[in-house]
Amino acid sequence: MYKAFLIKYAEIGIKGKNRFLFEDALVRQIRYALRNVEGTFDVHKQQGRVFVETQGDYDYEETVEALRHVFGITGICPAVMVEDEGFDRLAEQVVAYMDRIYPDKNLSFKVKARRARKNYPMDSMELNAALGEKILDAFPQMHVDVHDPEVMLYVEIREQISFYSEEIPGPGGMPVGTNGRAMLLLSGGIDSPVAGYMISKRGVAIDATYFHAPPYTSERAKQKVIDLAREISVYTGPIHLHIVNFTDIQLAIYEKCPHEELTIIMRRYMMKIAEHFAVEDDCLGLITGESIGQVASQTMHSLAATNEVCTLPVYRPLIGFDKQEIVEVSERIGTYETSILPFEDCCTIFVAKHPVTKPSIKVIKKSEEKLAPVIDDLMRQAIDSVETVYVEA
Ligand code: ATP
Ligand code: MG
Repeated sequence: MYKAFLIKYAEIGIKGKNRFLFEDALVRQIRYALRNVEGTFDVHKQQGRVFVETQGDYDYEETVEALRHVFGITGICPAVMVEDEGFDRLAEQVVAYMDRIYPDKNLSFKVKARRARKNYPMDSMELNAALGEKILDAFPQMHVDVHDPEVMLYVEIREQISFYSEEIPGPGGMPVGTNGRAMLLLSGGIDSPVAGYMISKRGVAIDATYFHAPPYTSERAKQKVIDLAREISVYTGPIHLHIVNFTDIQLAIYEKCPHEELTIIMRRYMMKIAEHFAVEDDCLGLITGESIGQVASQTMHSLAATNEVCTLPVYRPLIGFDKQEIVEVSERIGTYETSILPFEDCCTIFVAKHPVTKPSIKVIKKSEEKLAPVIDDLMRQAIDSVETVYVEA
């Protein structure tokens, strides 16, 4: 029955030239999201609206599912689209729609017509009244409530006429591509996929870097991270995932530095290497899943020590989240089940019993001097031997 979807987006603060950029990016992202959905879709802007029109048969569930992952969309309204064949015919079609969508007729409604084509013979007030009357004639159990109706029936007169009354929530945010690109440090945990999701929600395209330590970490741990990247790419779009062999760097740190500083020093080298790929990929920032106080390496002191090696801004969207709040987002976006699979990542193997919680940058730098003879070569090797996987949902 539905031939189209009217796409709602939040427009507050998006004016003038920015509005065009926003809408064009939204149209582009919708086309991308629908590329593998069965059906033929015409996605276009029209008079301050974005429409997805379908041609011929299509899979309704799959279409809605795809649209529910497009950042920038706040509401998806399945709409009926008809030719203008006069008021009586329109009234018939509207009545048939109400009958089909609302089997339980005991409800209040209001018609809200909008005439984007001014040569239509009735104005919107007349349309509201006349259509309302036809609906009441057909279904005496229904009643009109102009203040707080259970069903708001929107009727929009353009070249064609569309009407809709249902709105499926979208993910909100801004279309990917309206806000540059950033590099996500993606581990196999719960937090970093959520962090990537949250930054991407603001319109940022994402690439990712994962550090593994074969043979201390398994092939399955690596596959888990690739799977997580694919799961968030449903929202973020394609991701270049850089898989870096971190074993030799980790062993060197383990051998030469105080064990209570292992995690901080390791984190600092991760940041440096991720930044290298970030610059190569034209990223404007790094993203991590850190949250204040979650573990020893995420106290304010530890974060300051990690941050100190970075030139690019580091975005930590989960900084003020409790674990439970992060878990809720990960369940909602569909990464949780993968995140809790039990494969070790490299950090969990080389952890100290009593890590520092208040590292001093001066002390850490002193410890890192012990790596001086080898670290440049090791970093170079890690960077040169990167495996980059193109991940797409
Ligand atoms: P997560 O659920 O993201 O793994 P976590 O609670 O395990 O978080 P940590 O292991 O302390 O936290 O890591 C903090 C952040 O550092 C991660 O969110 C991630 O951004 C980055 N990070 C940690 N380990 C790796 C790794 N092996 N590869 C890439 N990034 C990592
Ligand atoms: Mg982790």
